[in-house]
Amino acid sequence: MPSSDRDKNAAPPLPAPLGVAVADSHTHLDMQGGTVDEALAKAASVGVTTVVQVGCDVNGSRWAAETAAAYDAVHATVALHPNEAPRIVHGDPDGWSRQGAREPGGDAALDEALAEIDRLAALPQVKGVGETGLDYFRTGPEGKEAQERSFRAHIEIAKRHGKTLVIHDRDAHADVLRVLKEESAPERTVFHCYSGDAEMAEICAEAGYFISFAGNVTFKNAGNLRDALAVAPLELVLVETDAPFLTPAPYRGRPNAPYLVPVTVRAMAAVRGIDEDAMATALGANTASAFGY
Ligand SMILES: [Zn+2]
Ligand SMILES: [Zn+2]
Repeated sequence: MPSSDRDKNAAPPLPAPLGVAVADSHTHLDMQGGTVDEALAKAASVGVTTVVQVGCDVNGSRWAAETAAAYDAVHATVALHPNEAPRIVHGDPDGWSRQGAREPGGDAALDEALAEIDRLAALPQVKGVGETGLDYFRTGPEGKEAQERSFRAHIEIAKRHGKTLVIHDRDAHADVLRVLKEESAPERTVFHCYSGDAEMAEICAEAGYFISFAGNVTFKNAGNLRDALAVAPLELVLVETDAPFLTPAPYRGRPNAPYLVPVTVRAMAAVRGIDEDAMATALGANTASAFGY
């Protein structure tokens, strides 16, 4: 099939609907085109009836909480992303956040932002605290201390409010597992966009951590993720889009959205050697128990 530049940027087509409803356990509706109503309607039309809207900074976390209050199909999590914490402390005009340049605010600014996350975490429609964790891919050594301080604070907030902890772990497996052990993880902890191998999946399983797979589990070079999925206990496995990022194959590079969850669910069912209804049934139930809704 010939492809043009327009094809590469176009929204992928609607997949066939799932027979059993599932949730997108991690999405960023505020970074996708279109309205929330459109995104939810499109997702529901293919059996993705629930989404977990994840906050990455103070404004995004407020928006997640407001959106979850307004829509039954949306649950919120709130946090400062691991790349956001060092930005608040040190400033980082070229950094990850979509808010652009910001003056460094020091430790006091981080404490102030964490206090707002703490306030939001108490709200009933906020089911989780995250995404938090460690990211050594985008944050260099100078940001490590702020990142780890923020991670520890988020663990404490999640436990105090009885909310689920959502982990972002990029190139930082050993340190993420170490900090979780040192602080003692909350009762419900989710590794979002799981990026470890089968050996780490066994460590997560032993600790009872949920393991959430994103569209990259379909990528050709992601054998380590499929190996992890193959050994993970089915009752700990979740699916997510992390949209607008990580669009599953064969649409890699095009805009992602919750309606594409069925593409990943089908790939996951194939890895597990079970039919898609059985996979979807497990994923739907697991997401509800992971986030306590
Ligand atoms: Zn993440
Ligand atoms: Zn995310």
